Amino acid sequence: MKKLSFLLTLLFTAIQINSQSTYILCGKLIDTEKGNIKKEQTLVVNGNKITNVFDGYVMPRDKTSKTIDLRDKVVMPGLIDMHVHIESEHSPKTRLEKYVLNEADRAYNSVGFAKTTLLKGFTTVRDLGGTGVNISLAKAIKAGKIPGPRVFTAGKSLATTGGHADPTNGSSRKLIGNPGPKEGVVNSVEDAKKAVRQRYKNGADCIKITATGGVLSVAKSGDNPQFTLEEVKAICDMAKDYGMHVAAHAHGDEGMQRAVLGGVKTIEHGTYMSDKTMELMKKYDAYLVPTITAGKEVEEKAKVKGFYPEIVVPKALAVGPQIQGTFAKAYKKGVGIAFGTDAGVFKHGNNAKEFGYMVEAGMPAMETIQAATVTNAKILKMENEIGKLKKGFLADIVAVNEDPTKNIHTMENVVFVMKDGKVYKQEK
Ligand SMILES: [Zn+2]
Repeated sequence: MKKLSFLLTLLFTAIQINSQSTYILCGKLIDTEKGNIKKEQTLVVNGNKITNVFDGYVMPRDKTSKTIDLRDKVVMPGLIDMHVHIESEHSPKTRLEKYVLNEADRAYNSVGFAKTTLLKGFTTVRDLGGTGVNISLAKAIKAGKIPGPRVFTAGKSLATTGGHADPTNGSSRKLIGNPGPKEGVVNSVEDAKKAVRQRYKNGADCIKITATGGVLSVAKSGDNPQFTLEEVKAICDMAKDYGMHVAAHAHGDEGMQRAVLGGVKTIEHGTYMSDKTMELMKKYDAYLVPTITAGKEVEEKAKVKGFYPEIVVPKALAVGPQIQGTFAKAYKKGVGIAFGTDAGVFKHGNNAKEFGYMVEAGMPAMETIQAATVTNAKILKMENEIGKLKKGFLADIVAVNEDPTKNIHTMENVVFVMKDGKVYKQEK
């Protein structure tokens, strides 16, 4: 009898530990699915999931469960940034760093960038290109070794010879070498296939191509087309076989059109997008990732003497100011908008500035938050796990002090961060 009661006590304790929940009392809660704000809600979190959502404030009945009081906050799902470079941060030293930094140096830097990003409320990011450190970083975060957002990474971007992501651009002839598909440089349909398969083998989650010239590469053109339609098609078809989608960096219209026709899912920047391309984007269900913050940053830094190499300055001054206007036009025309910033071109942690720029360009605040949650979750094929605060979803939860539909800049000051059920930040 004594033995039985001991066993029962053990079992009871086990159930209790198992059922230890966190009750989060939310003064206001953003319903990203419907695009409205609900008052007085309670989220119940168990392990890494949301296990219940109640109208009104509900207190736990058992003694082991905890309560988090966010009754004076506005609560929403963890934010998703579709365009970051998590292992680097641009500075006047960038060009030199290419030659003096070891992978380990980059890795240590990336740990800090990842933490900063998470503490600003971004619980998931899509990383669009680095050296390969990004893949290791994504793994380390997933394994719980270091704090950071969930990272979907492209590993090393794909470019053509001399193109925007050719890793030896601007090097002396001695160092220029002959990078190929393994290093992310393709010059034919066959190369394209091999490069995608290599990314898959390396552990990338998606593919990034540089469909046109870019601002920060040491090369003359910032907008010329850099892939043939056949090459883009080969990349997109191959990526599909491996369950990956393709993101295309693009400033110029011709390269952008080829990217959309070739099957990419997102156009990054979209600077000189024509009306025709906007229509194509709608037809092909492609999304624009605006990166307005990066546009503003490169324009500003181009005016600082010596910040960028000389060849970069005129490109930055031309491209930077265009991005917000094109975004405004594309939004009005009904092109799908995915929230993304290009953090790394500017300081990590400033990602939420993008919300203000989007609102300034005419997108309602609630829609900018939907772009950073439900829309991005869908592109990442995680629409049943992140982007909403619903029963069964992952417990990625953030909070701000004010109603963002009244003051969008409150998004820059996230005061509460939970990712996968674990609290990383809780400020008054
Ligand atoms: Zn970028």
